Amino acid sequence: MSPDVVDAGEWTRPIPRPDAVSAPYWEAATRGELVVQECPECGHRQFYPRTVCTDCGADPGWLTCSGKGTLHTFTVIRQNHAKPFKDELPYVVAIVELEEGPRMMGNLTGCEPDDVRIGMPVEVYFRTADENVAVPFWRPLPA
Ligand SMILES: [Zn+2]
Repeated sequence: MSPDVVDAGEWTRPIPRPDAVSAPYWEAATRGELVVQECPECGHRQFYPRTVCTDCGADPGWLTCSGKGTLHTFTVIRQNHAKPFKDELPYVVAIVELEEGPRMMGNLTGCEPDDVRIGMPVEVYFRTADENVAVPFWRPLPA
């Protein structure tokens, strides 16, 4: 297993439930790999996983990404009364633009919310939710 997959102890958040379309994405995440769909016909890349290319309708394939990107935008969650999130306040919900193009939502960790800046370089890591699913998180890349 890749060192980028972290067993962060007890997982208390909802566990993603892969379906037929998203299963390759979740399987890759569990291996410590970030994948997006890439169309073999037109080259379009997309996230989240869908049954067809949203540009041409062809059957999309999968592209393994570098796991690096830049922070496109973010918000700091300071109020959330739902467990387990209320125990994590404040936390950062980010939209990351991958080097490969698609944008992806996730939590940014490893820095204070007040230090987060649009455009900062980030990298993915994964936290184990159960034996079959790991969830991508983001952290700042060292400057
Ligand atoms: Zn296409």
